[in-house]
Amino acid sequence: MLKPSLSGAPVSSLEDMLAPLPKYRAKQIFAWINAGAGAFDLMTNLPRSLRNELDERFCLRKTSVINSFEDNSGGAVKLQISIEGGIIEAVALVDAAGRRTACLSTQLGCAMGCVFCKTGGMGFKRNLDSSEITEQFYHIRDLYPDVANIVFMGMGEPLHNLSGLRQAVSTLCETSSQRRITVSTCGITEGIMSLADEGPAVRLAVSLTTAREALRRKLMPVSSANPLNSLKEALLYHQERHRRRITLEAVALGGVNTSDEDAAAMAGFARGLSVVVNLIPWNPVENLLFEGKALKEPSAAELKRFRAALEARGLKTVLRREKGRGIAGACGQLGATENV
Ligand code: SF4
Repeated sequence: MLKPSLSGAPVSSLEDMLAPLPKYRAKQIFAWINAGAGAFDLMTNLPRSLRNELDERFCLRKTSVINSFEDNSGGAVKLQISIEGGIIEAVALVDAAGRRTACLSTQLGCAMGCVFCKTGGMGFKRNLDSSEITEQFYHIRDLYPDVANIVFMGMGEPLHNLSGLRQAVSTLCETSSQRRITVSTCGITEGIMSLADEGPAVRLAVSLTTAREALRRKLMPVSSANPLNSLKEALLYHQERHRRRITLEAVALGGVNTSDEDAAAMAGFARGLSVVVNLIPWNPVENLLFEGKALKEPSAAELKRFRAALEARGLKTVLRREKGRGIAGACGQLGATENV
């Protein structure tokens, strides 16, 4: 039986876990964990007897990196991390300005079944707890101490694991007030409302893919229980509360969702919201079919036309050239085959 890990707990939870120790001990231990201490014995401002007792009751990390893959472009490193019952993946990304971002997973697998995503094909195994989420960041930080930003765009639907997400975000925010955190959802309206009301005040990204309702239902089954009108209401509510621009993610699937009709529907959906559209050319995954045909990347001309059609309707767009394709670490490609 694994000992409980102290890594995913903010100071207030550590105080409870370590009671009846005085509260200042929780702060000291949190500082050591945040500094990357790999053993209780290194915590030299704690009495030796306490270090021994902690070592008997707890561990500092309950997950371990079993593989790492570096993209040839140098823009991404994917870590495969062993957890109880399977393997999760986390990715360190670097942008053109050299800033590093950690892309973290919140579930082992995913129940949402988006047809263009490898994780969706795995099915859902379980939610990750706060330690399993936080430790992904610590593993990446071991490699890149300057990593600051976090996106929850890895395996799983973060808003179906709100308690793990909330606890991990409060732990990670305690280690730096400067952290920029973005949570990406496939459009769980109840979760968006809950974020709006109860926080945390993270940036929001929504995987929209298309604003044509019938097509979206086929591509993203979540849309049946979370139709576009209720999704839009939830986004308006979130924006009213948090006054932050929302990212609409549009995975462009060759010949499927890049028509003028798609552009018009997306512009209609965005009306009244402050958004930027992240256009993501689909990252190939073998054996993914849509209506009996293999999914394909959009051609350069198709992408250019679609982007122009969005911009002509007043939408600001960013074309995301995906990092990590060479290591199956780009958007929609995560999911160790051992899990399937
Ligand atoms: S895109 Fe996100 S929500 Fe959809 S199946 Fe993949 S991991 Fe799940």
